[in-house]
Amino acid sequence: ELSGDKAKRQQGWPNQGKIDVNQVYMKYRPDNDFVLKGLDLQVKAGEKIGCVGRTGAGKSTIVQMLYRMREIDRKEKGSKQSFINLDDVSTQSVGLNLLRGNISMIPQTPYIFSETVRKNIDPLGQHTDEEIWRVLEDVRLKEHIERQSDALDTKINGGSSIFSVGQKQLVCLARVVLKPAPVLIMDEATANMDHETDNFLQEKIDQRFEKSTRFTI
Ligand code: ATP
Ligand code: MG
Repeated sequence: ELSGDKAKRQQGWPNQGKIDVNQVYMKYRPDNDFVLKGLDLQVKAGEKIGCVGRTGAGKSTIVQMLYRMREIDRKEKGSKQSFINLDDVSTQSVGLNLLRGNISMIPQTPYIFSETVRKNIDPLGQHTDEEIWRVLEDVRLKEHIERQSDALDTKINGGSSIFSVGQKQLVCLARVVLKPAPVLIMDEATANMDHETDNFLQEKIDQRFEKSTRFTI
């Protein structure tokens, strides 16, 4: 939490979901080549952007930069001002809680805590069981969870519970669907699912993130 965060929250930032990436350079290690070399990208508020490219091109790297899992490397010689703005505020000038609270993100590798289903879907404990069950139904996980003896208290990575990669992605999806943010980033979020499930989920996402800016790999 940074000093200006409270004021930004009160002002309702970010209220549009406009993204402005300017001259962004990034390399994973000092002795590596740059993966992003002066990336410029403008996404208008509410726009739906698709990002395609060969494997290893740097798509997931862009996602990591937007979510600030990696920071901008400003050391490239000759690079002008490098920044990523969300609604005209540099993402580096806000705390990670505030930033990430406003970006719904489904990473390429599903991010699962060694915790219960409930905690994975509602990490801050802000929702009722009823709401959690409803969202599980939305992503078609309800029956699978009902079959587990501990139901919402089932540990996802525990020895006795079994979740496929696709099902873990559904848990991540349930997490974002429960609390839609002004920006949605999906990194091949449905890559491990069959077409029918994929189509169904795209429809759900259209409904829940109708007004959000969407960046889809
Ligand atoms: P894919 O379609 O396979 O998911 P991608 O376009 O998402 O590919 P990235 O994951 O962004 O590609 O990777 C871009 C480049 O950065 C690749 O050359 C990769 O080897 C390198 N890279 C990615 N992650 C790391 C890392 N953690 N450490 C070092 N290099 C990395
Ligand atoms: Mg990728």
